[in-house]
Amino acid sequence: MKQFIYFILIGSVFLLSGCGGPDRSHRLVVIDAGHGGHDCGAQCGGKQEKDLVLQIVHKLYKAFKNEGYRVYMTRGNDRFLTLGQRTKIADKKDADVFISIHANAIANKSRFEEVEGIETYFLQKTRDARSQRIAERENAAVLKGADTLSKNVIIDSVLNGPKIVESNKLAIDVQRNIMKRVKAKYSDAKGGGFRPAPFYVLVGASRPSILVEVGYITNTKERNRLFNPDYQERIAEGIVEGVNRYLDNRERELGI
Ligand SMILES: [Zn+2]
Repeated sequence: MKQFIYFILIGSVFLLSGCGGPDRSHRLVVIDAGHGGHDCGAQCGGKQEKDLVLQIVHKLYKAFKNEGYRVYMTRGNDRFLTLGQRTKIADKKDADVFISIHANAIANKSRFEEVEGIETYFLQKTRDARSQRIAERENAAVLKGADTLSKNVIIDSVLNGPKIVESNKLAIDVQRNIMKRVKAKYSDAKGGGFRPAPFYVLVGASRPSILVEVGYITNTKERNRLFNPDYQERIAEGIVEGVNRYLDNRERELGI
């Protein structure tokens, strides 16, 4: 009888270990809660962006862990980090992806209750002079001594290179999966899609990087939802499912 019980126990251990799903322990993500410390981010209705994004990042941390990922937070508490420090952490850890979490806001009070929605951004070249300047500074060492034509060719190849294409793909997968998760319960939730933008925190990243604006803190309905743990959980799970999909595809393409 004793032997039989041992057999059952060992059998269950094998069964349990076999239920863990695919091994994702080689994947590493760095997640970034925007703002922190003296930088409160957007504020409305007595709520602060820095607190909201920290709550979501903690949920995101758990969700990635549950999927077997290695995961690091740029900040796990209420402290300030410069934008450069955030992407440096991702570089140091050699993360597969970098995800920055923010909340949106508008300045025009009369439009607070009409503007809402979840948006995911990735870095892309725009006609904006500021983003050009940032790119030139980023590539200063490469560009030294090159004439204007070759400078433009180099800038183009950096900004339109694999990192941008990959960040774009990642943004699409993450945005879609967040909306799927959120809309399953909150059918009227709005999605603003995925968009290119010259965010500095993404400019510094040398890996697929996105910035998720989880919603408008200035919109009463969305603000209330954003501070609801169930809603936060859905955003976190959607992000993880999006990253799963993106990395599954990438590994398939690379033949890993
Ligand atoms: Zn922000």
